[in-house]
Amino acid sequence: MTEYYNSQARSGVRTEAGGTHLVALLMLPALILMATALYAAMKPPAKAPVEEKHIASRANTQVRGSIPTPFSDSTNSKTASARTPTPVPKSPNIKVKTTESTGKWIAHKIRKGDTLSKVFSQLGLSQTLLHKIVTSSETAARLKSIRPGRVLKVHLNDAGKFMDLVYTYDPVRSLKISARGEVLSARMVERKVEHRVIHAKGTIENSLFLAAKKAGLSDTLTMELATIFGWDIDFALEIRPGDRFAVIYDEEWLDGKKLRDGPILAAEFVNRGHAYRAVRFQTKAGDAHYFTPEGKSMRKAFLRTPVKFSRISSRFTLKRWHPILKKWRSHKGVDYAAPRGTPVKAAGDGKVIFRGKKGGYGNVVMIKHGQRYTTVYGHLSRFARKVRRGSRVRQGQVIGYVGSTGLATGPHLHYEFRVNGVHRDPLKVKLPAAAPIAKKYRKAFMTQTRPLLSQLESLNETLVAHAN
Ligand SMILES: [Zn+2]
Repeated sequence: MTEYYNSQARSGVRTEAGGTHLVALLMLPALILMATALYAAMKPPAKAPVEEKHIASRANTQVRGSIPTPFSDSTNSKTASARTPTPVPKSPNIKVKTTESTGKWIAHKIRKGDTLSKVFSQLGLSQTLLHKIVTSSETAARLKSIRPGRVLKVHLNDAGKFMDLVYTYDPVRSLKISARGEVLSARMVERKVEHRVIHAKGTIENSLFLAAKKAGLSDTLTMELATIFGWDIDFALEIRPGDRFAVIYDEEWLDGKKLRDGPILAAEFVNRGHAYRAVRFQTKAGDAHYFTPEGKSMRKAFLRTPVKFSRISSRFTLKRWHPILKKWRSHKGVDYAAPRGTPVKAAGDGKVIFRGKKGGYGNVVMIKHGQRYTTVYGHLSRFARKVRRGSRVRQGQVIGYVGSTGLATGPHLHYEFRVNGVHRDPLKVKLPAAAPIAKKYRKAFMTQTRPLLSQLESLNETLVAHAN
């Protein structure tokens, strides 16, 4: 287990991290799956009571453009059974319900291998109708791409004539096609989800996981929390009993049921007496990042480590014995030993300036980040498909896979960090912070985040009062 702690080590190698530091696993979103699995294995036997979680406010529950839900509601079975039974199509994945005045709805669950034409036949609808539908408009043509697991519902009137069709993508989105007389109309229907702002807080006794669970946070949200503060707090080594957190996050609800957790909107983490605060800001274009209340970025411009590695096989040095060349050579980077095929990520946002074979580097990617910084990733077994010379890459984006091309004794990533063309030790170089909130968003940032921060403030006051 220890090996994974290294992957996000911020100032050196931490191969000796103790077993109690499970939270270290929180530090990379890429580790989420593994951490969740591990956590599941360590789950406390009793269900912790959900405490200190409440709904702070709830948005209105307007449903815009709601679609008929012939199977989920009170479609009344009494009247249905009183009617002449409708012939039921002979397929187990077809359900039929009859309603009093509106004919019947037939639902078909798409299966693997189903084609639209086959589904139409099974529903007793003609190929002529199918052709008419998919050629009627661009929106209606979307029906052509059906996927297993999704549901297609058809509404027929009492005379058995086609009236409506609803193809559901997910609980929120569906495509509705209606025939009225000879006119076909198609539209995308998006149901309005209800957003609830939730407050949660907790104090760590044993681990962040347990405290977060007790506060009612899902594992995903706990990971998110640790990721937000992961640049400032070392969750492997620096968490202490008494550390505390307060979180404001969004929940999405539909039909009185929780659909999913939305993002964390604001959070505070008090680590060893030092309070860190973060607030989320989303631009109109949909880019969301976390900032300090003053608008500084919560993240650094570079990941400390661009790969999940098992050990550092060679450090940055100006003099080392090269096992293949059999001579003393400087090593102007860090070698991270990792299984062949392990994804390698771009350490920061930037532009690919080289992708290909280059001498001892083997398959190598070089990324330029702004004017001053360049990062180099060598010995790759292969490149990520979308990464080419000139490509823009985002921090954390997979650019290639660990290998042993070029001068390498075994699979590892050779990683270099250059500042103004000069090689620096990737493990020790002071990493610049990511860009603060852009000037043009400053005003919107202040307006949007002020209420969240004051909520956090009041939540924190009760937290402090609690602690005393
Ligand atoms: Zn190397």
